[in-house]
Amino acid sequence: MQTAYTIILAPNPSIMTGPGTNTIVLGGGGGGNEGAIVIDPAVDDAAYLDTLVQEGEKRGGIGRILITHGHPDHIGGAQALRARLHVPIYAFSRQGVPVADVEVADGKTFPAGKDTLRAIHTPGHRFDHHSYYLERQRILFAGDMISGITTNVIAPPDGDMFDYMNSLQRLQEIDIAEIVPAHGPTIANAQAKIAEYIAHRQLREQQILQTLETLPRGVTIPEMVPAIYTDVDPKLHPIAAWSVEAHLLKLEKEGLVERIGEKGWTLVEPTA
Ligand SMILES: [Zn+2]
Repeated sequence: MQTAYTIILAPNPSIMTGPGTNTIVLGGGGGGNEGAIVIDPAVDDAAYLDTLVQEGEKRGGIGRILITHGHPDHIGGAQALRARLHVPIYAFSRQGVPVADVEVADGKTFPAGKDTLRAIHTPGHRFDHHSYYLERQRILFAGDMISGITTNVIAPPDGDMFDYMNSLQRLQEIDIAEIVPAHGPTIANAQAKIAEYIAHRQLREQQILQTLETLPRGVTIPEMVPAIYTDVDPKLHPIAAWSVEAHLLKLEKEGLVERIGEKGWTLVEPTA
C-alpha cells in the first residue's frame, strides 16, 4: 500500500530554509494515467533530482510539477526536472513563476491517485502563494504559510500581513488532519497550530500599537524592534524589523497607523 505522500528533503539547508525544503511526491498509481505529482522541486542537484524521479517511478512516473510560490527555494529544480521528464510546471501565475507552463487558479483540482489535490490560494507570504489540499485524506501541503521550525517570515515587499492573516483565516475553515509545511516536520494538530499563528500575530500587532502609544510620535522601525522583541536574540532583530514593517503596512491599510516624516510611524488620532 502506497503512502499518501513522500517527503524528499532538498539539500539546501540555511538560516531561512531550516533543514532544507520539503519536496513532496504524491499521487500516481490510481488506475488513471495522470501520473504522480511533485510539489516544489527546490534545487538543481543531480542526486536530489534522481531521488525525486525514482520516487515518482514507484508511483507510475511523474506527470506534473506543482509550485507553491516563486521563491528560489521552491522552484530552483523545476526547470531541470522538466527538462528530464518533459512534464509541465504548474503555478499560480507566470508573474510569480516565469518558468510556469500552466497557471493555476484558486480551486483547481488535480487527480492524485485515488484522491484529489486542490489548489487553495493563500497569498501573504508572497502574492502568488498556493497551498495544496488532499481532499479525502485531509492533508494540507502548506508551503510557507505555516512553518514546522519557526514562525515564518512575512517580509515586505514580498510579504503582505493583511493578506496573510486573511489566508490563515481561510485555512481555519478547512478540515485539516495534518499540515505538511515546506520547512520542518509535519504538524498533526493542524487547527491548533493555525490558531496559534493567528494569536501570535495578533499579539505582535497589539505590542506594536502599545509601542506606538508609549514611544514618541514618529518612532522608526529600528527603534520599535527592541521594545517589542524583548524575547528575541538581538541578532534576529533585522528579521523582526521586516515583520514589524509588515504589521505596520497592514495597520496602515486598516487606518490605524500612519507615516510621519521620512521613516517614522504614529497612531492615527481618533477623530473626536
Ligand atoms: Zn517562501
